[in-house]
Amino acid sequence: MTLGTEMVVYAQRDAYFREIINASALSLCDTAGVLWAARQRGAKLRERVTGVDLIERLCAGAAREGIGVYFFGGAQGVARDAARALVERHPGLIASGARNGYFADSESEAIAREIRASGARLVLCGLGFPRQEYWLAEHLYETGCGAGVGVGGSFDVISGRVRRAPVSWQRLHLEWLYRLVTEPRRWRRQLALPLFVGLVALDALGLRRPAT
Ligand code: UDP
Repeated sequence: MTLGTEMVVYAQRDAYFREIINASALSLCDTAGVLWAARQRGAKLRERVTGVDLIERLCAGAAREGIGVYFFGGAQGVARDAARALVERHPGLIASGARNGYFADSESEAIAREIRASGARLVLCGLGFPRQEYWLAEHLYETGCGAGVGVGGSFDVISGRVRRAPVSWQRLHLEWLYRLVTEPRRWRRQLALPLFVGLVALDALGLRRPAT
C-alpha cells in the first residue's frame, strides 16, 4: 500500500479498510503527514515514497527480472499511455496489459481473468482509495499475480495528464497545497488533513484508544 493521510483518517471509521491496511505486506508513507506521524511513533524511516516513485522503481526491477506488469485504472487510455511511457524509460519492461478503471462491480471477475490471462505477475491498481484496496483484497488471488499495489492517481501523472507539484513545493511538504490550488474540487477530501493532525495529537497524549 501507498498510505496517504486521508486513507489513515478514513480507516478510523471503516473497519474493513483498516483490516486491509493492517494485512498489507508492505505499507509505504505516500505523504509527508503519514511520514511525520510514523516518525512521531518512533519509526525510523528515511523518506516518503509516493505511488509515482514506487511505480518507477518497481518497473525498473520488473524490467530487470522479466516480470510482467499489468496497469489497471484511470480514464480510458490513461493506463495504456502510462505503460508506454514506462516501457520507454525502462527498456525490457514487459507491459502485460492495461485497462481503464471504470467498470461495474459485476465485471470484476472478468477483469481478474483478463489479468490472469495476460501472464502478469504484478498488478498496479489505480482506482483511487478505498476502491483499489477493496478490489485487490477481493480479487488479487484470482489475477494470479504475486503482488498488487494500490497506486491512486499515479497513472494520470505518469501519462502526463496531471502535473505533480514542482520539486521545490514537494521539498517544503506543500504538495497538498499545490493539489488544492490545481484541483480545488479536492477541498472536501483535504478536510482530513487537520483531522489527522488532531488524531495524532490525541494519540500522543494517550487520549485515544487505537482502533482495532
Ligand atoms: N478512478 C478509476 N475508477 C473509478 C474512480 C477513479 O480508475 O471508479 C481513477 C481516476 O481516474 C484517477 C484515480 O482513480 O486516476 C484516483 O486518483 P486520486 O488522485 O483521486 O487517487 P486517491 O488519492 O484517491 O488515491
